[in-house]
Amino acid sequence: MTEVTHDTVLKGTAVVPGVAYAEAVWIRPRPQLPRAGAVVPEAEREAEYQRFVEAADAVADRLSTRSEAAEGPASEVLAATAGMVRDRGWRKAVKKGITGGHPADYAIVTATTKFITQFEAAGGVMAERVTDLRDIRDRVIAELRGEDEPGLPQVEGEVVLFADDLSPADTAALDTKHFTALVTELGGPTSHTAIIARQLNVPCIVAAGKKIHQIQSGQPVLVDGALGTITLNADPEVAKTAVSEHKLVAARVAQWRGPGRTKDGHLVQLLANVQDGNGARVAHNTQAEGIGLFRTELCFLNATTEPTVEEQAAVYRKVFEAFPNSKVVVRSLDAGSDKPVAFATLADEENPALGVRGLRVARANEELLTRQLDAVALAVKQSNRGESAPTWVMAPMVATAREAQWFASLCGERGLIAGAMIEVPAAALMADKIMPHLKFVSIGTNDLTQYTMAADRMSPQLAYLTDPWQPAVLRLIEHTCKEGKRFDTAVGVCGEAAADPLLACVLTGLGVNSLSSASTAIAGVGAQLAAVDLETCKKAAAAALNAEGATEARAAVREVIQP
Ligand code: PEP
Ligand code: MG
Repeated sequence: MTEVTHDTVLKGTAVVPGVAYAEAVWIRPRPQLPRAGAVVPEAEREAEYQRFVEAADAVADRLSTRSEAAEGPASEVLAATAGMVRDRGWRKAVKKGITGGHPADYAIVTATTKFITQFEAAGGVMAERVTDLRDIRDRVIAELRGEDEPGLPQVEGEVVLFADDLSPADTAALDTKHFTALVTELGGPTSHTAIIARQLNVPCIVAAGKKIHQIQSGQPVLVDGALGTITLNADPEVAKTAVSEHKLVAARVAQWRGPGRTKDGHLVQLLANVQDGNGARVAHNTQAEGIGLFRTELCFLNATTEPTVEEQAAVYRKVFEAFPNSKVVVRSLDAGSDKPVAFATLADEENPALGVRGLRVARANEELLTRQLDAVALAVKQSNRGESAPTWVMAPMVATAREAQWFASLCGERGLIAGAMIEVPAAALMADKIMPHLKFVSIGTNDLTQYTMAADRMSPQLAYLTDPWQPAVLRLIEHTCKEGKRFDTAVGVCGEAAADPLLACVLTGLGVNSLSSASTAIAGVGAQLAAVDLETCKKAAAAALNAEGATEARAAVREVIQP
């Protein structure tokens, strides 16, 4: 272990901006897992099973209570975790172990291991849920033994939370009055933990690596969630100044009012990313000027069969109704890869991120797409959306001009305005052939970065590559914007890059006309844009494009724009 010296700065991946200075506290350790060997006498097994049921019920009830107190994705994650503790299949497997003579804690371990193996074999989104499985195993074991619940510690005052990885349930339950920042060894910028941290608006750094284990609970740390830095032994005065400067920025953010525009009045529409009516209603209470990305596939992750046109229309209508007088951009199903949808995704693909996902699913099943477009058109009609509330529809994973043309013709037949996501590098490079078919494009920087850098967006080891500040990604965006201007095609950004205030200035300088992000990020982006003029954005863009890498790009832009 390296010795900590004065002002040691550790780095991770910046996820949610903000500055905090407080004592570090490590997440409470997981319980020791039991070993095999102990046998419960037959006469006591029923009582042992009841002990398990009571402990599991207590954990599930606690998670449900927290879910009810939370909102949006945080509430959904807590409810889903509670559902896993109530899962009949899991409970049956534990019962089998207890009936066979295992103590409850050991039966929980073996039952959960069986599910973990199955989930890992299934891959994709199922494999990601392994963290949740381990989490419920540990919570129920701790409850059985009367130990403290693993995960978030009880704290007084303000602290910075450190963890190897945070389960989505722990992140969702965070009280931001006490936990002023989060730092994790693992995780990626688009993981659920990062998405929830963004929703809670708590400064967050992920993928900070093993080096953070040199930090002890109780040690003061300065965290900058925009730079991704954790400064140890910082001069307390310097640290406090950084926090108060950040507070000034935060105050500027709180006062900011839309619409999105630079200091000299150049308009940049600021829109929200949503996944259902609930999210759209939350977004409506922010400064969002509309919806820039409605991820329709997320409505159907639990559906085993395809909803009818009417059923789909009812779901879409809820989003339209939240924004009756504003633009809504609906994305057609982006099923596949890490978002398997039972009725649309091919099973057993070797490499699903490069497989039949997004628009590609519809090549072999055009009706799946046309029924969805019919449902969108029906929902538009039912909600009387007029000219002040344009509905745009875009296809994910477009790679060729022919795909764009095909999608546009299906939309045209239904009176819908067609666009495409630019998230495959080929689409950016072929923008001049794709744009003539479309009214707009929206750059999905999450996937565009993943495919440009050949780096899995879920991999914590590759977080330095899956960074939208990579100049290679910015150069593809620059090219897309140039072609957008030439063909008079609107160019938006709807990946996580649109949530980063500094990067938003770069994107504006490159020529992006709209930015769509988590609705909690909109005010931060709007306030930063309002503080700079278009010329400065252009200078920032040039600096970023000419940088050697992502870190250098950030630093170069910081020279041009002070926060
Ligand atoms: C993207 O890829 O940037 C995007 C917005 O789509 P998703 O994150 O849903 O893949
Ligand atoms: Mg994408």
